[in-house]
Amino acid sequence: MRRIYLDNAATTAVSPEVMEAMLPYFTGVYGNASSIHGYGREAKRAIETARRQVMKALNAAAPQEIYFTAGGTESDNWAIKGLALAKGSGHIITTVIEHHAVLHTCQWLEKQGFDVTYLPVDEYGRVTAAQVKKALREDTILVSVMAANNEVGTIQPIAEIGKICRERGVLLHTDAVQAVGAIPLDVQAMNIDLLSLSGHKLHGPKGAGALYVRKGVKIDTLLHGGAQERGFRAGTENVPAIVGLGKAVEIACQNLDENAARMVALRQRLIDGLMARVPGTRLNGHPAERLPGNANLSFDKVEGEALLLRLDLVGVAGSSGSACTSGTLDPSHVLLALGLTQAQANGALRLTIGTDTTEEEIDQVLDILPPIVEDLRRMVSR
Ligand SMILES: *Cc1c(COP(=O)(O)O)cnc(C)c1O
Repeated sequence: MRRIYLDNAATTAVSPEVMEAMLPYFTGVYGNASSIHGYGREAKRAIETARRQVMKALNAAAPQEIYFTAGGTESDNWAIKGLALAKGSGHIITTVIEHHAVLHTCQWLEKQGFDVTYLPVDEYGRVTAAQVKKALREDTILVSVMAANNEVGTIQPIAEIGKICRERGVLLHTDAVQAVGAIPLDVQAMNIDLLSLSGHKLHGPKGAGALYVRKGVKIDTLLHGGAQERGFRAGTENVPAIVGLGKAVEIACQNLDENAARMVALRQRLIDGLMARVPGTRLNGHPAERLPGNANLSFDKVEGEALLLRLDLVGVAGSSGSACTSGTLDPSHVLLALGLTQAQANGALRLTIGTDTTEEEIDQVLDILPPIVEDLRRMVSR
């Protein structure tokens, strides 16, 4: 059966170039990067190359500002808990539509005595710099706002938020897991102090991530042990994964404009096509300020889960929320925060395009999906 993968916000395929870059580090170059012999030095060199690739992609000032982690979740936990623990007490500002890696971390910090403000978003999922400014307090230690949302694709005004934070001397963390390689990011120009990214969302390996920490920003260590990552993140480095992450970030950022233009065209073809062919369809998220590959639509009188299952039967892979929450029938916290009713939220379908998605695949989905929605609606009204 032909299969069409439109769940690239959940994870992506490792690209052939990334795979090729990683392979030697499983077998030939397997040294421990902490060893002083040739095997170790080769592994160490590969890690430092990857560090420079990530540094360049983010326009960080120095390679020492990049730390490798086991993924976006660890980077988010480390940035927020690490900063909070270093400060000891204080107030954190975030938003209601963050990924659970940020939300649950903030909720845990509340239990440890920190104060957290969760900013609401507008109907498109946007927060404004003015909202952040208004929420700032004397004791605010951190603002954490995602660069782009994983469910509805909405892009936040990070540069404006960064400007306010810098003026007020408050640190800014951004979960840029969905944004790196998809939209332009520059930690210096945007006044970002901490930034999380993950390999598997941009055609790199799973279980590999990075945290950017601006020079001079003090965060506590979460993983204690050896002296890896200059003593800040213990544990023998996953060299192949780090090599793959570096390569994936480099490729994604080098081809960003070209990929984004292609993906925006495909996404718009998908959104416009579905809106035209299926009555009772609404677009979730911002019409323009959205990730190139994200289409999130609600179909009246249809359960997203039912739609997903029917699509899966004909080989089309999508998501009805974020992959972490499907399986439970709780409506997505993001869609509810945008003001959708429970029914609208339950009717949402997220289709996310990757750099390898073709126009033919989009056209096939435009043919396959409308009759399935019609069929599901007929079943409901019977
Ligand atoms: C996927 C994702 C994460 C978690 O990253 P992992 O590498 O899967 O741990 C965090 N934030 C956002 C916005 C994501 O999309």
